[in-house]
Amino acid sequence: MACVYNFGAGPAKLPQEVLKKVQDELIAYGNTKISILELSHRSNDFKEIIDDAVDTLRDIMKIPDNYNILFMQGGGTGCFASIPLNLMNRTGTADYVVTGSWSAKAAKEAEKYGKVNLVYPKPDKFTGICNPSTWQTNSNASYLYYCANETVHGIEFDFVPDTKDVPLVADMSSNILTKPLDVSKFGLIFAGAQKNIGPAGVTLVIVRKDLLGSPMKMCPTVLDFTVLAKDNSLHNTPPTFQIYVVGLVFKWIKENGGVEGMKKRAIEKSRMIYEVIDESNGFYTCPVEAKSRSKMNIPFRIGANDEELEKEFLAGAAKRGMLQLKGHRSVGGIRASLYNAVSKEEAEELANYMKSFFALHGKRN
Ligand SMILES: *Cc1c(COP(=O)(O)O)cnc(C)c1O
Repeated sequence: MACVYNFGAGPAKLPQEVLKKVQDELIAYGNTKISILELSHRSNDFKEIIDDAVDTLRDIMKIPDNYNILFMQGGGTGCFASIPLNLMNRTGTADYVVTGSWSAKAAKEAEKYGKVNLVYPKPDKFTGICNPSTWQTNSNASYLYYCANETVHGIEFDFVPDTKDVPLVADMSSNILTKPLDVSKFGLIFAGAQKNIGPAGVTLVIVRKDLLGSPMKMCPTVLDFTVLAKDNSLHNTPPTFQIYVVGLVFKWIKENGGVEGMKKRAIEKSRMIYEVIDESNGFYTCPVEAKSRSKMNIPFRIGANDEELEKEFLAGAAKRGMLQLKGHRSVGGIRASLYNAVSKEEAEELANYMKSFFALHGKRN
């Protein structure tokens, strides 16, 4: 197979070692003589798979015992509903920090279930994070919600908001397991798997136990964290294959330096790309304020938003085997996603291509 580089934003690159193992085991899992795809979710073999995934995650993220780890369905978007349905009952209101399109969607969905307070007005353009000292928070909020990494706009929090006694809820769909985290600061963390930890179809929810037990009456059973926690994510048939793959990815992270190792790689990889952008005299532009630049998703434009030139860039990239670099349809341009499975060498290849493209076309500017 020709060498390819997958810079897709999601579903995204998975570690080769994991894909190989899945391939090796696909026809017959362990000693079962049948495929993981054919294995009952009530079997002991599957129980081992899910328990193992939970244990490995607890280990690599250092998740305290007073948190449940749930595998749900419905994606990140499902959580936009399940979070208010499970957590907003306490006071009927919640604080939302809107820093990009994903948190904006979450806030809009939550409005169906209670009062949403935007801690600052939704900006016209998403280019950074308003200083927390200006946030108009509500001490009566059931929780404060934010998106730790805005996948489309490339905005990442470099701090954890301090909410005092208000539970903190974070969408980490695109940056979970990319750096160490003090989980005890959070009430709930969630992440769709397909950005950084596995195949689409499973959503990870890490929830503090004292927040369980008071869902809204209308909360659908499949979105009920309390039910899922009680039944170890096996209330109904879970996405068994996805949980199996996610468990393998957790092990891969553990064997590759853990979250500290992922952080080191993320810094090195993203620095290479941002350096090319910053040293291009405005040929490449990234609109995000320096301190909030994402280490996972780097959106940029070329030649003062020259769409023809961007097309040429993408075509040249594809010729070199660099795939899925097109920016999100809502913002255009280019986006390089550098998730855990993308190697330093791959990021370097992209940086080199950007340099040569600049050398060739930069003067036109
Ligand atoms: C992709 C994404 C979502 C939505 O995930 P789906 O699984 O497609 O519903 C939510 N939040 C963030 C930060 C994302 O990157």
